[in-house]
Amino acid sequence: MERVPERSFQMLAPYASDPALSRGRRYPEAEAPTRTAFQRDRDRVIHSTAFRRLVYKTQVFLNHEGDLFRTRLTHSLEVAQLGRSIARSLKLNEDLVEAIALAHDLGHTPFGHAGQDSLNACMQSLTPGEHAEDGWGFEHNLQSLRVVDELEERYPAFDGLNLSFETREGILKHCSRHNAQRLERHEPQGVAARFLNGGSPSLEAQLCNLADEIAYNAHDIDDGVRSGLLTLEQLGEVPMFEHHRQQALRAHPTLAGRRLLFESIRLMLSDQVYDVIDHTRLRIAEQALESADAARQLPTLVAFSPAMRDRSQVLKTFLLRNLYRHPQVMETTTRARRVVSDLFERYMNAPQELPEAHGRSHHHARAVADYIAGMTDRFAIREHERLFGAAVFP
Ligand code: MG
Repeated sequence: MERVPERSFQMLAPYASDPALSRGRRYPEAEAPTRTAFQRDRDRVIHSTAFRRLVYKTQVFLNHEGDLFRTRLTHSLEVAQLGRSIARSLKLNEDLVEAIALAHDLGHTPFGHAGQDSLNACMQSLTPGEHAEDGWGFEHNLQSLRVVDELEERYPAFDGLNLSFETREGILKHCSRHNAQRLERHEPQGVAARFLNGGSPSLEAQLCNLADEIAYNAHDIDDGVRSGLLTLEQLGEVPMFEHHRQQALRAHPTLAGRRLLFESIRLMLSDQVYDVIDHTRLRIAEQALESADAARQLPTLVAFSPAMRDRSQVLKTFLLRNLYRHPQVMETTTRARRVVSDLFERYMNAPQELPEAHGRSHHHARAVADYIAGMTDRFAIREHERLFGAAVFP
């Protein structure tokens, strides 16, 4: 019986990424009999070790602070859901969006941004001459690429997951010039080229960036209220939220508490999704895009309307001031930073404490960073307790 990839089920626009035109994998492989290249990428991400770890990694609230808060895993699933839904409306490639969304946070350290900032500071503090390959700091986007390119050990013939160019391009959302130059030396005209020569990633990659932002703005409100650090009254300061809260109350005058919160967030999410779809359609039509590559030559096309961009910025600023910099969050941030920097210092000075699989590198500092970045919150806490004898998180 003949098996064919199910690509015909989704009608793709001419500017969507077509798996049949993929720039391919770093190590050539035969096509799978029933799946397109991007479906296969998504499946490889889901079966990876790094993906399973996301369930025990912090988004904003530490993993052990409560069972109902978002983790990196549920965040990634929400990004994939929003991304696919918008992709279908725009006739972009849903499978590619899903693969990028599920992989986009694979390189995150334990303890969210606190962990990454601390690890970056540790790596930056190294003497460049002594650590030629190591002195380039730590970037979580670059680390996500490193996970899928180098660190996963699943296949007999190569390191990493050997994903398609388009998925890797989407994973590398930001990259410093220095790191882009290094990547470019290993892979000329590769995934880092646009950080040196200008240009954009595929529309699917652009969509994942925006879906990420829409997802965390919404779920951080939910988690913020759940944690008691934000109140519904305080959220009245945010015009976009207040607008949808009023809208929810007009439709359901007796609505209150959690259901009012959820309904307001739901309306806000839908409004943002429709805004992206409408505004992006306009921008694509203006450009008369004929191919996926044409979008790479242009500035970002998948975007909010200017009015929605402003509203979203107000919400982000509100969350930064009232949630991410809430004294209680800052307090755990300080402890988290200490766990990471203590671990880094110890593994640097006592390589025998690293498991053997991580300790054989020529580039010890990078091996230490990879090891720490791969840890879940609770593993990092336990390891810190083992090495230092005291609990940082009582
Ligand atoms: Mg994210």
